[in-house]
Amino acid sequence: MLFDMSIPVTLAKGDRFHVEALVNSETKKAIIRPTGFIDENTDFDSLLEYITKIAPGLQEMTFDLGHIDSLNSLGARAWLIFLEKAEALIPLKFEKVSEVLVDLAGIVPNVLGTAKVSLCSFCAPYYCPKCDRRTVQILTPSAIHREKGAFTPPAFTCNECKSELEFDGHPDEYFGFLK
Ligand SMILES: [Zn+2]
Repeated sequence: MLFDMSIPVTLAKGDRFHVEALVNSETKKAIIRPTGFIDENTDFDSLLEYITKIAPGLQEMTFDLGHIDSLNSLGARAWLIFLEKAEALIPLKFEKVSEVLVDLAGIVPNVLGTAKVSLCSFCAPYYCPKCDRRTVQILTPSAIHREKGAFTPPAFTCNECKSELEFDGHPDEYFGFLK
């Protein structure tokens, strides 16, 4: 393998979108970190080409999706097409899935892949009423309590004032993608 964990490979570098890849040839794992805005100009072809090239030497690939700030409808379409092809190449894991992707996953099936993709963690918005401050927590799917179709997010306290944070959204809508 030509790649090493200590040297991130930068792919598809642009003003609004870029991708970083960290490949560890010893553990046979890779982390792919797309960052920015996904639209019709996002170059998923180069990314797919790169993944196709490295997949045979790897056991799994983790997508760090915590830095996707926004995506428009054509971008979402391109993402779905890319994902379908990537899924067929190598087992995928998703971590720190950003709020925009979670929101979309509640509406559009397969935004976070099919059942083959394992969802490790995702971002969730919280709010401290005392500090008037919004924070993002990273949750695992198992941290969400589910009962009779209703979702209860885990409790967190504010780092600053130690009050209990409120979930900044509608839990049943936000966590609906976990169904
Ligand atoms: Zn606070």
